[in-house]
Amino acid sequence: MPVPSAQPTASVLHTPLAPSRALLARAHRIIVIAGAGMSADIGTPVYWTGDNAAYGDTVSHYGHTNLEHSCAPLWLEEPDQQAAFFRETWREMRESEKPARPADPYFVLQDWLDAAAKDYFVLTSNVDTAFTDHGFPAEKLLEIHGAYDRSQCLAEPEAHGVFPTVDPGLATTVCPTCGSLARPNVLFFDDYWFNNAANELQEEDFLDYQRHLAAEDAGSTVILEVGVGLTVMNLRNLTWDLHSRYDLPIVRINPFHVGRGDDVSAGTAPIYEHQLTALVGLRALLG
Ligand SMILES: [Zn+2]
Repeated sequence: MPVPSAQPTASVLHTPLAPSRALLARAHRIIVIAGAGMSADIGTPVYWTGDNAAYGDTVSHYGHTNLEHSCAPLWLEEPDQQAAFFRETWREMRESEKPARPADPYFVLQDWLDAAAKDYFVLTSNVDTAFTDHGFPAEKLLEIHGAYDRSQCLAEPEAHGVFPTVDPGLATTVCPTCGSLARPNVLFFDDYWFNNAANELQEEDFLDYQRHLAAEDAGSTVILEVGVGLTVMNLRNLTWDLHSRYDLPIVRINPFHVGRGDDVSAGTAPIYEHQLTALVGLRALLG
């Protein structure tokens, strides 16, 4: 999921935006594929960069690195510790200082999509509910790794379903059916216990969105990939899959990795910039 740790500071663009502007201006539909870079820009800790100290010294506190806690299914082995870890990280996410609206890439993106009247759909690996929190419609969103605002039962992950995380300040709650400890409905590595019910509903929305893609004119739909890194390749692979299947142009915004990776195209119009810088620049050009 995550990549950069630095916050955007430069306002000078290093990449000409004319090619991407032309693609985006012409498109009727925009498939937004958003990774951790978007949320890094609003202050969400990126677990992996050491100096970012995303979730603090988790080795001392919990006995595992923050990467292990964030991605490995330790719930069955150490449920109390995992619950404490997620309670703390969720609280930090919610309480971290957020940028003002003009400096918030989610709002910049949303304002442009709305003003330009684009028919869009968002795919994201972010589990921090930032798209929901910023008012993006639920029916236009597929959170491929789940989200913190919903939970599932630890004891009966399938039978007891997916339910809202009742107290967002706690991140973990109890199962309303049996009272067992609940865990976030977030997909970890090798997580055979992840309840996919909520995701399947979102996937149906995205399948419905794809109905027109095969038959439409070239360039009618563009993939706008924002802040997607190379750590976990799911999103990059998704971009490539959609690009290959429907011949969709890719506008890729990433300050560090616009084209690396043997199986990943650099995109039709790569923008080697921070997410916010690029989105502000594009919005100014696109009106
Ligand atoms: Zn239960």
